[in-house]
Amino acid sequence: MNFLDDDNKNTTQRFEVPMQKAGLFPLKPISVEIMQINVGKMCNQTCKHCHVDAGPDRKEIMTRETMQFCINALKNSDIATVDLTGGAPEMNPNFRWFVEEISKLGRKVIVRCNLTIIVANPKYNDLPAFFKKHKVEVVSSLPYFSARRTDAQRGEGVFEKSIKALKMLNEVGYGKENTGLTLNLVYNPTGAFMPAGQASLEKEFKEKLEHGYGIEFNQLFAITNLPISRFLEYLIQTENYNAYMEKLANAFNPTAAVGVMCRNTLSIGWDGYLYDCDFNQMLELKLADGTPQHIKDFELKGIIERDIITNRHCYGCTAGAGSSCGGETA
Ligand code: SF4
Ligand code: SF4
Repeated sequence: MNFLDDDNKNTTQRFEVPMQKAGLFPLKPISVEIMQINVGKMCNQTCKHCHVDAGPDRKEIMTRETMQFCINALKNSDIATVDLTGGAPEMNPNFRWFVEEISKLGRKVIVRCNLTIIVANPKYNDLPAFFKKHKVEVVSSLPYFSARRTDAQRGEGVFEKSIKALKMLNEVGYGKENTGLTLNLVYNPTGAFMPAGQASLEKEFKEKLEHGYGIEFNQLFAITNLPISRFLEYLIQTENYNAYMEKLANAFNPTAAVGVMCRNTLSIGWDGYLYDCDFNQMLELKLADGTPQHIKDFELKGIIERDIITNRHCYGCTAGAGSSCGGETA
């Protein structure tokens, strides 16, 4: 049995209970505006709280054939945005081809870039120029504006490399006013606590990064750590699991629940299987029975009419101001 499902191991009530009270159970999609595609679990980093369990040794990589199925689905729909994630998506050998093909369809591309990949190898140094050419929106994690806290979560030397990469992105126009080149940062807490308010964090990050390093960016997204993969292991090992879950459950916010990202996003795994979100993907919870299961069988009607699979990890999306790949939801 899945740990999150086990009523003997959990002190929080089942997620259905507050959702039912809020009139949101079963949870249904509103639309599919974003296709979030995990192009592979390979990464140049091994961050402590990675919910993908990504790293240099992971071999799961999306093939060009599966990418073509994604492109066919885009052609058969009006999904406006494609959000590419990983691992480090840029490490997929077909990454640039894929971005070019999506751009040709006139869809917006977001890349979840871990920053250090830009300076990891000379072959990636031109990524800022490539992103600029295709007007890709860059979304990058930076846990904090100091080396100590960033390196503690993401690995030794990551802060310094991230600053270097941010400067390279700024140099081509990312994060600067009137360039149309968007650079958003993602903050997630370094431990078993919820993030502070997004607006105040953004202000603080902007001041510190500008004054300390001359770095500019557009928005900061504050994201709650969900109890999945490495972060779940950390919570269990430190005996913080139930206390953290209680914190999230006690902060359940029906307005945040209305705006959860699975209601307008379809998530696609490296092998083409479909999920309600990136987190369900990591928990191997595929779309509900009776719904198309693989991107090659994409059919919008069935996907829109499905019930979204939820469990206790969803408390991470509905606590406080809410949390999604685009930050707060309420
Ligand atoms: S950079 Fe992202 S994908 Fe890679 S290990 Fe860190 S959190 Fe995971
Ligand atoms: S974890 Fe996924 S399924 Fe659950 S609320 Fe968040 S986005 Fe929706």
